[in-house]
Amino acid sequence: MVASYGLDELRKNHDIELDGLAAKIEDRDPELVGLQFPDGIRDYGPAIADAIEEQTGIDCVISGDPSFGACDLALQLEHIGVDLLVHFGHSPMPSIDGIDAFDVIFVPTYSKAPVEPVVRKAAQHLEGKTVGLLTTAQHAQRLDDVCEALEDEGVDPLVGYGDNRVINPGQLLGCNFTAARTIAEQSDAFLYIGSGDFHPIAAAWGLKELPLYVADPMTSEVRQVNDRIEELMKQRHAAIANAKEADEIGILVGTRVGQQRVKYAKGLVTLCERKGFEAHLIAMDYFSPEALKSFRHMGAFVNTACPRITTDDYARYDAPMITPQELEIVVGKRSWEDYIFDEFKGTKPAPHEHEDAVELEHDVVGEDP
Ligand code: SF4
Repeated sequence: MVASYGLDELRKNHDIELDGLAAKIEDRDPELVGLQFPDGIRDYGPAIADAIEEQTGIDCVISGDPSFGACDLALQLEHIGVDLLVHFGHSPMPSIDGIDAFDVIFVPTYSKAPVEPVVRKAAQHLEGKTVGLLTTAQHAQRLDDVCEALEDEGVDPLVGYGDNRVINPGQLLGCNFTAARTIAEQSDAFLYIGSGDFHPIAAAWGLKELPLYVADPMTSEVRQVNDRIEELMKQRHAAIANAKEADEIGILVGTRVGQQRVKYAKGLVTLCERKGFEAHLIAMDYFSPEALKSFRHMGAFVNTACPRITTDDYARYDAPMITPQELEIVVGKRSWEDYIFDEFKGTKPAPHEHEDAVELEHDVVGEDP
């Protein structure tokens, strides 16, 4: 039987703000609306497009490309006449600059999974402790419920603001844990509310000294992720050792709007050349082993785009791929003991203002934005 991808089905598991969307679109009076979805929600794209077209009479086109985050807005749709992009499933990334020419509406998509049972389960590991809370945009509006459940169980919850690469209190990205760093000194442990290791591993890696527990509202599982860091560090040690054998290095620059670090990449070319390596800038949109086959004579690649391509997809590439900070180790500018995760920071620290940010009743560390 073919699965149903209608709006009723979507609303069963997701709290998605579709009601005011048609009015927001009409206000902007576009010719053609681009719709961009992350995996999982994209299946419902045709039903959402139908609803928008019916309510507004304006044509929609669905982006069929992957959407990895708010760092990855489908601005290329402008080339086919799209003059308004509606981006679903991720919250805005205020640090992205220069997209004023292309209007973007963000539609948050929140999980409906109850958080309280799994948080109470996690509290068994955390009693009497001050615990920093972390989550993704999907569960961001549930942090007040999390705080209440923890306080009830004798745990003292803390929530912090990150920099302007994130908008919600306590929000983690796979490349940014500034919301964790804000409260690290005051916390005995971190508790991440969400699924998978992708987001919490960044904070656990970047702030190694604190235990980080995951409470997964989808599976009701509670686990600690810190054990994975040792295995990742072994992988990075091998990557650095292999990169030291290279004569020629490709410095990869991402073209996606929230993954561009061109100036940084140029500085890395200069660093390589000063240390006797030949280096070239290579710009890429979608990273894949196939795309790098044309550069097979290069002994290593330094990735300045999404740092998780480097750490999570490392085994897919023939040549070692390393982070900019790992390049510093390769050329002798940094020691292995000073290893740091390649955090992709925003352009401004908290406080920062954004009309789409989730508001919590619980106090948030850092000034009120
Ligand atoms: S750069 Fe990578 S980790 Fe960061 S938001 Fe984008 S996809 Fe996620």
